[in-house]
Amino acid sequence: MLKLIEGGGASQDRRSGERRLEFGDRWPYEPSPEAIDRAGLRDRWDAFIDGRFVPPAEGGYAADLCPATAEPFAAVAESTAADVDSAVAAARRAFEGAWGRLAPLERGKHLFRLARAVQERARELAVLETLDSGKPIQASRDFDLPLVASHLFHHAGWADKLEWAFHGRTPRPLGVAAQVMPWNFPLLMAAWKIAPALACGNTVVLKPAETTPLSALRLAEIASEVGFPPGVVNVVPGGPSVGAALVTHRGVDQVAFTGSTEVGKVIRRAVAGSGKRLLLELGGPSAHLVFADAPLDQAVEGVIAGAFFHQGQVCCAGARLLVEESVHDVFVAKLRDRMETLRVGDPLDKNTDLGPVGSAAQLARVRELVASAEAEGAARYSVARELPARGWYVAPTLFTGVALAHRIAREEIFGPVLAVLTFRTDTEAVRKANATSSGLAAGVWTSHPGRLLELARGLEAGVVWANSYHRFDPTSPFGGCKESGLGREGGRQGLAAYVRLEEDA
Ligand code: NAD
Repeated sequence: MLKLIEGGGASQDRRSGERRLEFGDRWPYEPSPEAIDRAGLRDRWDAFIDGRFVPPAEGGYAADLCPATAEPFAAVAESTAADVDSAVAAARRAFEGAWGRLAPLERGKHLFRLARAVQERARELAVLETLDSGKPIQASRDFDLPLVASHLFHHAGWADKLEWAFHGRTPRPLGVAAQVMPWNFPLLMAAWKIAPALACGNTVVLKPAETTPLSALRLAEIASEVGFPPGVVNVVPGGPSVGAALVTHRGVDQVAFTGSTEVGKVIRRAVAGSGKRLLLELGGPSAHLVFADAPLDQAVEGVIAGAFFHQGQVCCAGARLLVEESVHDVFVAKLRDRMETLRVGDPLDKNTDLGPVGSAAQLARVRELVASAEAEGAARYSVARELPARGWYVAPTLFTGVALAHRIAREEIFGPVLAVLTFRTDTEAVRKANATSSGLAAGVWTSHPGRLLELARGLEAGVVWANSYHRFDPTSPFGGCKESGLGREGGRQGLAAYVRLEEDA
């Protein structure tokens, strides 16, 4: 149970009769943990190659830790280059065999079946994702899983209509796609990659992040259960060396990577000159721009969601807030008030808004950036909470008095930390928003439609949300500019990464 240190009131536990502290008695609640009995947990997870689970060639297993407890809850195969070889060979056989021979309409039916199976097993997958990644069950259940299913449905529909996506050209599959995933959206990013690759007729070898491999392995198993031929979807769990072996493998035709800008640059160099097609979805701090004429209460909700959703561990987290100087004080007061209502704790509890961050390393990085902001002179406000004793938790935090020169204004925090800067004019707002090397997303809050359109043109960001934030739809392409990526995922544009185009005869 969470207890508040400040602003708390007392209430009585209905079952034990024990008195406990809760926030101001305004939002008392009973814990409502999601059951884990149907999450399909197992003690040992092997690589998924050629339609079945296969022990790793060199026999190594790594402990998979639960972010909420920092304790191991499964052993996962540590793949090596030999396993990557087997997976790529299986993917090639499937591409040249059963999968390659399927008519596009039949490919689509396979994807529809997978989408429906994901919907049917959404609860199981959401619990698995929450246990493995630490994201609140609210998020995995209501955000990740519905989007996973909708991406699969959307691309299932494209499978037999690809000619319509590339007017006057004939799209052909590339072959074997190598797909390397981050830990913040393990299943969603897998769906974003697998769905278009398969719809376009390719086969895949996917490497999940070393800290969150389970949901991708389960997805591959489900694909096999709904009838995908062996070798179409392969998953090789492991660390960076497995990712490196996969993206540089000679049997791979396409590389799709989602992760940090740093590793994205390494991969871009590694595949340069190889002829492999490359798709990069990278990170970077994104900005909210809040103008004095904005609906401020609505903007507060958007900024809170943008900065704190999934503990701020979102590639396009709105971790920088640029607020017009005249409303700075009132807006920050509203933000602080709303932050006080955020519940931090067990991610399996359906009441929880913020769970733990993804790993001990991530916790250390967030703490280091928070310390740097304090040292550089920004004013810190953290919600006063007694955090759970185990696990990697950070209290929601806001910094005011941040300058562009501060590290917290330029670097990706990837934690529940919001940096507040001010501006006086539209030009200054755009200049400050663009003052990073990344350009993934931005949110503009104003009641003035003309200003919205003008700002959207000036902002160096792949996505600009208008009076909203974190809205995703499989029909809409997503991706960054500057150092935030190369190519798009989703929509008609997202298919381009997975086909070569022939001129019509
Ligand atoms: P990361 O770059 O550390 O790791 C991502 C993956 O790359 C992991 O599977 C890792 O094992 C693998 N890897 C590491 N070194 C490699 C190498 N040399 N060759 C091949 N593979 C290698 O990123 P992360 O910490 O897992 O994820 C967080 C990052 O992902 C953030 O920067 C975030 O912004 C970004 N992200 C971007 C998007 C997007 O759509 N743009 C979505 C989610 C996350």
